Amino acid sequence: MSGFRFRTRERYEQEERERLAPWAACAGDSAGRLVPEPEHAYRTAFQRDRDRIVHARAFRRLEFKTQVFVYLENDHYRNRLTHTIEGAQIARTIARALYLNEDLAEAITLAHDLGHTPFGHAGEAVLDRCMEDHGGFDHNRQSLRIVDLLENRYPDFSGLNLTEETREGILKHAAAWSHPLPLPPSHPQRSLEAQVADHADEIAYLHHDLDDGLRSGLIGVGMLETTALWKSARASRAGRDVEMPVQMSEAVARARTIGSLGDGLIGDLIEETSRRLAANPPASLADLRQRRGYLGGELGGELRGDLRGEGRTETVGFSPEIDRGKRELKSFLSENFYRHPDVLRRVRKAEWIVGDLFRTYRDDPNLLPTDVRARFAREGEPRAVSDYIAGMTDRFAMDEHKKLFDPHAPI
Ligand code: MG
Repeated sequence: MSGFRFRTRERYEQEERERLAPWAACAGDSAGRLVPEPEHAYRTAFQRDRDRIVHARAFRRLEFKTQVFVYLENDHYRNRLTHTIEGAQIARTIARALYLNEDLAEAITLAHDLGHTPFGHAGEAVLDRCMEDHGGFDHNRQSLRIVDLLENRYPDFSGLNLTEETREGILKHAAAWSHPLPLPPSHPQRSLEAQVADHADEIAYLHHDLDDGLRSGLIGVGMLETTALWKSARASRAGRDVEMPVQMSEAVARARTIGSLGDGLIGDLIEETSRRLAANPPASLADLRQRRGYLGGELGGELRGDLRGEGRTETVGFSPEIDRGKRELKSFLSENFYRHPDVLRRVRKAEWIVGDLFRTYRDDPNLLPTDVRARFAREGEPRAVSDYIAGMTDRFAMDEHKKLFDPHAPI
């Protein structure tokens, strides 16, 4: 280590080239930012992206946005901020194990939910309907609008001026809508770091929705016994408990089973992805991006891939058995938790609030703050209203709804 006063960015970039897989995204080879900027002395481009996201106003608002439950119902349920932090930690674990760029996977995961409306998917669905004749609403698109346009912290550009690789990860799907800035180019396959971020998001919510669902009492452990992943998580947990003969409370046993389930998903994803890469290793990131399928070793070289959306290939994925279990668990949660009458009552309330706000602002734009009205000329009135509502926290939206509709509430 002698000879280094501190680890410079150039040194770190060099370490990445030596340490990471040939198909990983190296910060030193980034396609750069829309507005060129000088590089930092000791942070790489992706580390800087991550820091910009964490310091964004939209990031702080995640704390007061719903994941499934409205933020003020119980101090222990997840909100979008804790979901995002749990997802980022999972993304780092997976990226590190696969010799991918942890900083990039982390930055993408930290930004992935910035565009969510208040009240989660219920808010998104109603805003999309309200915006039907004006290009619709989609939270991935909104995340990109936030990092490209809406954050206001720098004199030389709007947004955060993130690298093309981070923006590609945030974009998720090919855009079917217009965006005022050039979009990252679309390839048959996105970087593995972007794919890891998607899966980390999914593992994070499966894991914590089980936890919150059980904690709330809306789902019961007995009901979960019908699912393969829960049963095998309980069995693998019990195997370890034999070695640690401690009397466990119900709460600890449940937490250990949920932990085993999450750990099992992460482990399977790492092993299956690594198997796919080993069966047919790409020469470089550029080579990987052009691949329309991976060559699965066990499938006799048959070309296949996890196709998502517009026919894109995904190399990062679960083994067929765990993938089936994951789908089963998702439909279990959907039927028993997301569509539980108690949750649907919240959804209905959220739809009323978001819908009422949109209609009221559109009927009388003078009710909007001046900085929102100032954006009418550039964005068009409906999009400026949609940006304003999408940026609201649950708390702000509920207060604002009360101010507008309760004659006794203060203005
Ligand atoms: Mg998410």
